[in-house]
Amino acid sequence: MRTSNFLLATLKETPADAEIASHRLMLRAGMVRKVAAGIYNWLPMGLRVMRKVEQVVREEMNRAGAQEILMPAVQPAELWQQSGRWEMYGGELLRMQDRHQRDFCFGPTHEEVITSLVSSEIRSYKQLPANFYQIQTKFRDERRPRFGVMRAREFVMKDAYSFHLDQASLQQTYDLMHQTYSRIFSRLGLGFRAVEADTGSIGGSTSHEFHVLADSGEDAIASCDKYHYAANVELAEALAVGGERPAASEQLTTVATPGQRTIAAICDFLDLPVEKTIKTLLVQGAETPAVALVLRGDHELNELKAEKHPAVATPLQWLGEDEVSNAVNCGVGSIGVVGLDVPVIADRSAVNLADFVCGANQDDVHFTGVNWGRDCAEPEVFDLRKVQDGDICARAGSDTSDEARLTIRRGIEVGHIFQLGTKYSDALNATCLDSNGKATLMPMGCYGIGITRIVAAAIEQNNDSRGILWPENMAPFEVVITPVAYHKSAQVKQVCDALYEQLSNSGIEVLLDDRNERPGIMFADADLIGIPHRVVIGEKSLSKGQVEYKFRQADDAEQLTEKELVEKLLSQSSSVHQQACTA
Ligand code: ATP
Ligand code: MG
Repeated sequence: MRTSNFLLATLKETPADAEIASHRLMLRAGMVRKVAAGIYNWLPMGLRVMRKVEQVVREEMNRAGAQEILMPAVQPAELWQQSGRWEMYGGELLRMQDRHQRDFCFGPTHEEVITSLVSSEIRSYKQLPANFYQIQTKFRDERRPRFGVMRAREFVMKDAYSFHLDQASLQQTYDLMHQTYSRIFSRLGLGFRAVEADTGSIGGSTSHEFHVLADSGEDAIASCDKYHYAANVELAEALAVGGERPAASEQLTTVATPGQRTIAAICDFLDLPVEKTIKTLLVQGAETPAVALVLRGDHELNELKAEKHPAVATPLQWLGEDEVSNAVNCGVGSIGVVGLDVPVIADRSAVNLADFVCGANQDDVHFTGVNWGRDCAEPEVFDLRKVQDGDICARAGSDTSDEARLTIRRGIEVGHIFQLGTKYSDALNATCLDSNGKATLMPMGCYGIGITRIVAAAIEQNNDSRGILWPENMAPFEVVITPVAYHKSAQVKQVCDALYEQLSNSGIEVLLDDRNERPGIMFADADLIGIPHRVVIGEKSLSKGQVEYKFRQADDAEQLTEKELVEKLLSQSSSVHQQACTA
């Protein structure tokens, strides 16, 4: 491709409303343009990268025996009513009506459509297992579309759905998809982690997310290499810290704490370590007006864990000021467990405390020397807190070495695999005949990859002050040729054109920058776009029989003969392509 024939829409200015590097760089490199909130045009430069991602995903899904199909973006409401999700899905589902006032939605996901399709096309266990995938545009009316295509409303997803005769077969395909995802992200050259995950509203039991590691990631993931544990912090199990509960040694004492309403203020005022305090949080109960969740003062509530307790209303609802004063006779900062007349659920670490400090259910008063079982009932114990960096891994047993501790990193969710069980086959009556001729519901798996999000995530992980640093398999072009004085020197033009032809004919994707621009401008654009290999051709080097070569991530350029350069680029390119065949 020559830049004279290519929409090179690079921007010098940093777009003001782009908060993270990938969003800024995708705009500046001329990859995407915003049409409306969370809705984007993909320009030629961006689409080339998106197609590379699709290609790797397609090759690996095909290799794993999945079959490509294409389902419609617009789906009839009836299917969603059958699964119960027409009511359940909430504001993210974009609903619409046709000219006959019939209800439709723009698909945010395709469990209903595929299950209905498979229930009419697959009859016998002999056709199972079957795994169908598509690469297709989804729409989710996200509450906060942001970070460009990272959290868009319209985006491209690869979604796959597998159907089975039994759980053992589902587990096999699930494991194969786990491996396939690892191959995909490895081939794309991304630093990633597979983590245990919550199943959320899609339903089902077992689930893993694949995260690209990057500081700007919206998710926190906890991992411990020694015990091969990695989980989304939403799910990661938190052990009790601080050891067994000591015996009570202090008397229950009332202390005046005028105006002290936060844990930090109380610790300051009473000169206490925060590990001596608890906090009591009131939320709506499933069957009672209030439930108290108790954590050690320095620990944070994991709301998803709390929602899993049957006594807690889902979704989690904090009590408002009025409801708090109905349940206890004080403000939020003075609640405590002594004399509290609501069900109490305490975190594992909070329950191990003795002689602790808490509010006295009366403004401006606290208790010190509080002990479970003596001053209040023994609470129900439940894992309620968010794990923290340095916590002992839940798989470590009695090992408390440094290697047994969790590390917390930020991640961008680029893939998600689930075992759905028979949730959708049940709702849409997707059965097949087993070997005895008996109709049986097919257990299902589903497997998503955010194609467009991967493009942004790769940039988030690979950039520097000058622009993008594409992993080789995702780069829009492999080589850029930057001439010095292409329009003035017949020799430069001739060498550039010949090299361009030669490399292109060898299957290398080359961008020849034949604009009549200063080299500095062309260098800056090439670095911004992130093309891995740059060749500079000018009369000065040519007079010495040389051209200049620079790898995007290297500090310095090298002088090579044309022959050496071609050999280098060909071997480089063939090793990348070979990787595709053997990965
Ligand atoms: P998130 O928690 O980020 O909203 P999700 O759990 O809703 O993701 P899934 O329903 O599992 O996502 O969708 C499969 C994949 O689609 C995700 O792993 C992600 O890569 C991608 N994806 C989901 N929502 C978006 C979005 N709004 N914009 C871009 N990609 C998305
Ligand atoms: Mg979502």
